Amino acid sequence: MKITEHIEKADGTLFSLEIIPPKKGDSIKNLFNQIDPLMEFKPPFIDVTYHREEYVYKERGNGLLEKRSIKKRPGTVGICAAIQNHYNVDAVPHIICGGFSKEETENALIDLNFLGIDNVLALRGDSIKSEQHFEPEPDGNAYASELVEQISNMNNGEYIDDELQNAIPTEFCIGVAGYPEKHFEAPNMDFDLGWLKKKVELGAEYIVTQMFYDNAVYFKFVEDCRSMGIDIPIIPGLKPISIKKHLTVLPKVFKIDVPKELEREVVKCADNAAVKELGIEWGIQQCRELIEKGVPVLHFYSMGKSDAIQRIAKEFF
Ligand code: FAD
Repeated sequence: MKITEHIEKADGTLFSLEIIPPKKGDSIKNLFNQIDPLMEFKPPFIDVTYHREEYVYKERGNGLLEKRSIKKRPGTVGICAAIQNHYNVDAVPHIICGGFSKEETENALIDLNFLGIDNVLALRGDSIKSEQHFEPEPDGNAYASELVEQISNMNNGEYIDDELQNAIPTEFCIGVAGYPEKHFEAPNMDFDLGWLKKKVELGAEYIVTQMFYDNAVYFKFVEDCRSMGIDIPIIPGLKPISIKKHLTVLPKVFKIDVPKELEREVVKCADNAAVKELGIEWGIQQCRELIEKGVPVLHFYSMGKSDAIQRIAKEFF
């Protein structure tokens, strides 16, 4: 079922989560062990992230280095199919522009369609370590908006090969990313919102936000979107802080702010066990206000950890 239908049919705020594929060589059982404790909150859908290749240099033994491309977390499509089979909930694969030609994207979407996957989150992806800026494939999509357009075309029965006769239209519900604190490459918020609007005009049906720790930032973002005519559901993304290091890692990796009050409280914590309790309490306060304001879904970034999310979700679901 489409995410938009889940939201329309819901009698209040829903619970959902994002998981990352296990590292190459790990068992899917370990992933299910992380998801299992969260199933009591009845997520109607589970997102599965996509991880690009990375380049590593291996000694060839003759003093020379060999550059090799490896994927540390493959398996997004397989995991989505496994989640749908195992839990009977919708799995939402993340589809990125980086590393894919349009043809490869089309083939991946055909696989997803055959597997009975109804939803995709369309993203650009980030640059890989060896690039200074994001570089699309020469025949790939350069921005998420182009990827949204490609998926919308398939939803209209238009595949890349325009000689195809009577191609079956797909029916993907397309989600996209939104940034309450602005995407780090955008020169200003208006610029970023302008491109977000473009993604919606080209066919996006819902938005999932980057994580945030100050609800006021999310509410302002929603208000700004609405005043620009973006009227699709805007799902807040949440991740409880659980270790001291998050104070520097989260801003660096996700380009977000940690509010002063939260930062001060984390610094006061004696150890990471105390930070985790604080993160749970902060998350509960955030969720309480978001639910009061009627957000469609609380979407948790699990990143391999489920216990803090479980404690927060228990309060509401
Ligand atoms: P875009 O919407 O393409 O925007 C990128 C930047 O370009 C923005 O600054 C925008 O303002 C600007 N822009 C957009 N269109 C144009 C245009 N036509 N011309 C000029 N400028 C333009 N990454 C992964 O690799 N795998 C994942 O699974 C993954 N999941 C994510 C899930 C969520 C909910 C979020 C918020 C992010 C996720 N990311 C993931 C990270 C994401 O790929 C990066 O944030 C990336 O840098 C931007 O992706 P985007 O889809 O927002 O890009």
